[in-house]
Amino acid sequence: MNDTAAAPSVCGCIAFRNEDSEGRRFPEPAHPYRLPFQRDRDRIIHCAAFRRLSEKMQVFTADFGNYHRTRMTHTFEVSGIARTIARVLNLNEDLVEASALLHDIGHPPFGHTGETVLNTLLSEKANEKAFNHNEQALRIVEKLESRYADFAGLNLSQELLDGQRFKVVKSKTPLLEIQAVDAADSIAYDTHDADDAMEIGLLQTEKLFQTALWKYSAERIRKRWTNLTDSQFRRAVIHDLIDIQVSDLIYTSQQNIRNAGIESARDALQVPFLIKPSTDIAQQKAEMETFLMKNVYRHPRVMSLRSKVSQWLQSIFEYYIKNADELPARYNAVVKNEGVKRAAADYIADMTDRSARAESLKFMK
Ligand code: MG
Repeated sequence: MNDTAAAPSVCGCIAFRNEDSEGRRFPEPAHPYRLPFQRDRDRIIHCAAFRRLSEKMQVFTADFGNYHRTRMTHTFEVSGIARTIARVLNLNEDLVEASALLHDIGHPPFGHTGETVLNTLLSEKANEKAFNHNEQALRIVEKLESRYADFAGLNLSQELLDGQRFKVVKSKTPLLEIQAVDAADSIAYDTHDADDAMEIGLLQTEKLFQTALWKYSAERIRKRWTNLTDSQFRRAVIHDLIDIQVSDLIYTSQQNIRNAGIESARDALQVPFLIKPSTDIAQQKAEMETFLMKNVYRHPRVMSLRSKVSQWLQSIFEYYIKNADELPARYNAVVKNEGVKRAAADYIADMTDRSARAESLKFMK
């Protein structure tokens, strides 16, 4: 099969139609040549919180070298994979792209560690979910970003806000476009976290043969090439793993869509998720995720960063809840309406890994 061969398509009627959009909270005139979700995409890319993703970690900080993904490069990888899925499945590619670019914008510095620390600092009682990066993304685009004269936030289309809200509440089936972004996110991080961990030296390639997904792909690559260096082999397997998962997702989803007999974007909201991997690949992905949890996310080098991050962020938080007047003026309204703790958390969540580290040095005894 050469590069020009195309996968069979499903009908275009299931894409979310731009004209069905519920629009924006603050109505704006239509743009002469950009569609609504294109404008959303541009607003996201042009906001300050998006730019800061380049200095926020995915799994590894700058101390681990310069090969690994940042939160921003991960975001672009998710966007690329999600757009591929959207184009083959005939979904609304602009909506998919904007949703992918939005999906991680609420991450505080130091990834999920930073998120856990802020949650603990803000929680008044046990098991409270006081800070969550998906909710923070909504705070940023609905309230905290200040770029436009007529409104706070980015005034994004309702479908993007609903898609992001789904990640917090998970109460009902979201649009197919949002399902595609979720699936692309999972494919991207499973595969690329493994790649980064091997490059950094936290994970030996041989160990990954314990997982069925890696083993299957590695055997395909060995059959195809016999003379690869270790790093060429590893990268070939990583490319193949993405390809296997994306292809499986597309073919499985096409079948699901046909079998469900849906004929519009609205129909898809009435049935369970249709954009998902086959049962086999879903099981193999789950095995890979358990493997990564044990061997990468809980690696001693990653864990030792956790306790330091906790102290750094706590020191900043404690300083500002006692000295609210020193928070930047853009948080005045949050201090007034939601209290100083929330304002301090918003300020910290906005920081990059580097600026949080630098700021903490001023307060740590
Ligand atoms: Mg992500």
